[in-house]
Amino acid sequence: MISKTGFVYHDSFLKHDTGAGHPERPGRLQSITDHLKEIKLWQQLQHMLIDEAPEEWLLQVHSLEHIRFLKHACSQGMMTLDGGDTHASKESYDIALLAVGGVLAATDAVMNGLLQNVFCAVRPPGHHAERDKAMGFCLLNNIAVAARYAQLKYRAERIAIIDWDVHHGNGTQHIFYNDKSVLYMSTHQYPFYPNTGSRSERGAGDGEGYTLNIPMFAGAGEEEFIEAFTEEIIPSLENFRPDLILISAGFDAHRDDPLANLELTEESFGKLTSMVAETAAKVCNGRIVSILEGGYSLTALPRSVEAHLRAMMA
Ligand SMILES: [Zn+2]
Repeated sequence: MISKTGFVYHDSFLKHDTGAGHPERPGRLQSITDHLKEIKLWQQLQHMLIDEAPEEWLLQVHSLEHIRFLKHACSQGMMTLDGGDTHASKESYDIALLAVGGVLAATDAVMNGLLQNVFCAVRPPGHHAERDKAMGFCLLNNIAVAARYAQLKYRAERIAIIDWDVHHGNGTQHIFYNDKSVLYMSTHQYPFYPNTGSRSERGAGDGEGYTLNIPMFAGAGEEEFIEAFTEEIIPSLENFRPDLILISAGFDAHRDDPLANLELTEESFGKLTSMVAETAAKVCNGRIVSILEGGYSLTALPRSVEAHLRAMMA
């Protein structure tokens, strides 16, 4: 049976070349699609046609200088965009546009009611990218563009973003820090890269109280996450009553992930997804767009995505 859960993926995402030995590599997506085909979940998903996002939508969250810089750097085949480990190849700018286009297509399908929810298996990831800065393997902030797109195209007033990637989504927080129409909530290992995301960062100006950071010590696992969701994230969603829920779905808080030290399992991701989906059914007709961020174990990542999808399809 075909579900009302969509899946965004394109072979071009594999062409974003980050160089030998880089953890954010094409094999991540390959491991996901291979696994979903093998267990025959692939055929139950609604596969979507996607296009590169028009640049006008990027300008809702990024500066023109940032877009020009990315375009130029990629055209030159510049390997590192930030003096660190955010790498890009000649094709990377176009592929980043396609990743944003994928999340916009997902947003269309969910806001139009054609699909209940969508998971976007995209790369490059986005939540570290700030208005003016590529960072942490991220070029464009996919989820931030989706939030503004839903607001401007579909008059969605309030958007909630849940970011359970093991790293704090500094870019997304930065973009919406003064904005009360976008509730940003993050669980992440702390202190840890990128060193933002303390409890005391709560938003500013009109946005004060609309950023919720829940730092986790190294070694925290499912119990701490269920508690954070039960006591803080789900009640905040119920109070805020968003028109759409977006998830920065990184799977690097898995215990087998090589980049971090939290202890979730694939079942944990299934449980957290069910909690969000049940709340979405109550507050926003079930509308969820979930977007892949991190997740670097090629065995834990596909199994975690499977558990996430099964909970979205239930
Ligand atoms: Zn991460």
